[in-house]
Amino acid sequence: MLGRAGHRVQVLEKRRMDVPSGGQRVPPNCSKILRQWVGEEELWKVATRCVGTPMHRFKSGENVGYLEWKPAVMAETGGEFLLMHHEDLVDMLRKLAVDAGASIHLDAEVKTVRPGSDEDPRPSVVLSTGKVLVADILIGADGSSSIVRDVVVEEKGLLKSAGLTVYTGTLEAADMLNDPELSTLYHADDWPIWMGEHRSLIGHPLRARRQYSIGFYRWHGPEIEPAKPNWEDIHTTNNLPTGTCAPVVQRLLKLAGQVIRTEQVSFGDGTHGWTDSTGRIVLLGEAAHPALPGGSHTASMAIEDAVVLGSLFSHLRSMDQVPSLLRAYQELRQRRCKTLVEADIGNTRLMCLPAGPAADARDESLRRKYDDWDEGMLKASFEEIAEVFAYDAGDAAEEWWVSWGRFHETAGEQPGVIVSVHQE
Ligand SMILES: Cc1cc2nc3c(=O)[nH]c(=O)nc-3n(C[C@H](O)[C@H](O)[C@H](O)COP(=O)(O)OP(=O)(O)OC[C@H]3O[C@@H](n4cnc5c(N)ncnc54)[C@H](O)[C@@H]3O)c2cc1C
Repeated sequence: MLGRAGHRVQVLEKRRMDVPSGGQRVPPNCSKILRQWVGEEELWKVATRCVGTPMHRFKSGENVGYLEWKPAVMAETGGEFLLMHHEDLVDMLRKLAVDAGASIHLDAEVKTVRPGSDEDPRPSVVLSTGKVLVADILIGADGSSSIVRDVVVEEKGLLKSAGLTVYTGTLEAADMLNDPELSTLYHADDWPIWMGEHRSLIGHPLRARRQYSIGFYRWHGPEIEPAKPNWEDIHTTNNLPTGTCAPVVQRLLKLAGQVIRTEQVSFGDGTHGWTDSTGRIVLLGEAAHPALPGGSHTASMAIEDAVVLGSLFSHLRSMDQVPSLLRAYQELRQRRCKTLVEADIGNTRLMCLPAGPAADARDESLRRKYDDWDEGMLKASFEEIAEVFAYDAGDAAEEWWVSWGRFHETAGEQPGVIVSVHQE
């Protein structure tokens, strides 16, 4: 987005491209952005359209209901609910960034972030090699344990475990074909959920059914030693704390063999500013706002952030505009991200209710949806999801610009290098 708008961009990523990852859900609000960027044909090479969500019991495997992702509802949102591999999404974004002129530096770990001073307002970063890079603007897109955020929010000790551990794994689809139950999963373009007490499992096909993704979610109390929130912690599936689970869940986990363990974290009450006191360092994605790892809205929040920031910065003609554009960016994004995170947390908790009246009411409602989904239900359901799925990040930014931003526009100095810490 920034490169296309004519800014000079450098991306600093501490990892390489070939790191372990798994399935990533891409809801309509995000898939329509990707479609605009790469076109329908490229998108379908790496994505599967999700047609529905069967809900099963985690302990017995018994089916409770089925939520169909109605094509008519999806069409109204302007996008599709897609199932992708995280690596394919990152690779797509990498190619787009390079085509737009960004230079991407892999194995480039930022060790220190230095805000600018009164004499020179430009921030700088020091890499692990000792090299120093100076920029007009620094974007901290360095994930949930962001070091850029430590400079933006000066208060210490705010990062805490939020009580959910997520294990993500991938199966080779060929291994599923000899097992009748797993073969049925393999042949469906579904995103099934097995609902248990304080735990759940999801699955979905990947890469034109060559692979299958699983995600195991476990809510726990603060007594559990928190996992690292950075997608680096690899475990075997042998000793996963599943408790009693259905044979199909056991077989999926066994075939996956290993999983990436990550942790949901919170950062204070989430109301901190996204820009530092010099007004030149700004946060994006999980560095800026919390997310539920392996949720439906993680990638979409980061990509929407990028669209809004990039759209606003496409109007940048003078550094004097930066403070008002960054204020607008946070104002447009903070409430939206809160809604999306709450939706992800609410849905995951609903899938993990302990036995009792609340779980019974959920199951009853799922059964009803399965039986009675008529036009009335469709309308009600659409109204519920329209706010989330029909949102257009580019429109939101342009609307702000037309209503407010352009009145502050002043001619002046052109901005120079923008350094961004992140691969996406
Ligand atoms: C390796 C990896 C695998 C993932 N796999 C999945 C998956 O399978 N399914 C899923 O749903 N979500 C996955 N995620 C999470 C998903 O990417 C995020 O939830 C979402 O896309 C929001 O992304 P983000 O850009 O805010 O943060 P992240 O995706 O966490 O990206 C932050 C990036 O910043 C880099 N970084 C951090 N610190 C520094 C530093 N000091 N210097 C330079 N670079 C730095 C990290 O290496 C990382 O690439 C994965 C994330 C990572 C990092």
